[in-house]
Amino acid sequence: MNRCYDLHSHSTASDGTLTPAALVAHAAAQGVDVMALTDHDTTAGLDEARDAARQHGIELVPGVEISVTWMRRTIHVVGLGIDPGHGPLQAGLAKLREFRDWRAREIGERLQAAGIDGAWEGACALSGGGLVGRTHFARFLVARGHARNMREVFRRFLVRNRPGHVAGQWATLEQAVGWITGAGGQAVIAHPARYGLTRTRLLTLIGEFRECGGEAIEVVSGSHSPDEVSVMARHARDTGLLGSAGSDYHGPENPWIEMGRIAPLPEGVIPIWRHWAGVREAV
Ligand code: AMP
Ligand code: MN
Ligand code: MN
Ligand code: MN
Repeated sequence: MNRCYDLHSHSTASDGTLTPAALVAHAAAQGVDVMALTDHDTTAGLDEARDAARQHGIELVPGVEISVTWMRRTIHVVGLGIDPGHGPLQAGLAKLREFRDWRAREIGERLQAAGIDGAWEGACALSGGGLVGRTHFARFLVARGHARNMREVFRRFLVRNRPGHVAGQWATLEQAVGWITGAGGQAVIAHPARYGLTRTRLLTLIGEFRECGGEAIEVVSGSHSPDEVSVMARHARDTGLLGSAGSDYHGPENPWIEMGRIAPLPEGVIPIWRHWAGVREAV
């Protein structure tokens, strides 16, 4: 039997709009058998998600999506199967959240200077007590009519050379992979087609990632086109990385991405779940 794996999703603990329990219920309703909750730089949603997963009879893989600065860009590294109680992982994530808190105020001040009042307060209110990310600023700005949609608001306000941009100062690749593997998890390069890297740069990233102990790339992602899936499948096969698959679901507001609605891993890509306990028969 083919089981449905969705190994990348977000809750209100970071920039998703469903609580961990509601997210798990939604995944179960969508027919997902194995899901990972991978909030940005926090594991705060995992306890609630685990309880909900038990109730709904779906398997929860404890995860996280760590923000990394690599060659002056932001890269995301997903950790799957982590022990959230691992001290160095939590210490590292706490530092990243400290930077996030500082950055949120800084984004607020910069938007203020650009004539937009109350953005920090607005973003905090929308975060519902979870960490504050650019997504919360984006939702605030769209609600105030500064842009029509999320794509436009990021492009006009929240990326390099725009008024609300603050450069990331995240973990190094080595730190992020080290925290994940130290916590017993597997490290995955998230949505590799999203970074605008040349082929050469991407291969450099993959090489360094493997040297640090990274094992997989997301071949299938809600943000990959079919062509990008093929390219990443080839990279996985050529470099010996395992393949992962995840929707990167953030909530029902974005109808383009749905929990569990992801393409199968292409032929010849070895699934990251190949040796997972209890799910071996699924391969
Ligand atoms: P942060 O980690 O706070 O800098 O925010 C990164 C998050 O912003 C990503 O995980 C996405 O959820 C969201 N994001 C980034 N770029 C876009 C975009 N162009 N449209 C919609 N959401 C975006
Ligand atoms: Mn996000
Ligand atoms: Mn990401
Ligand atoms: Mn994500």
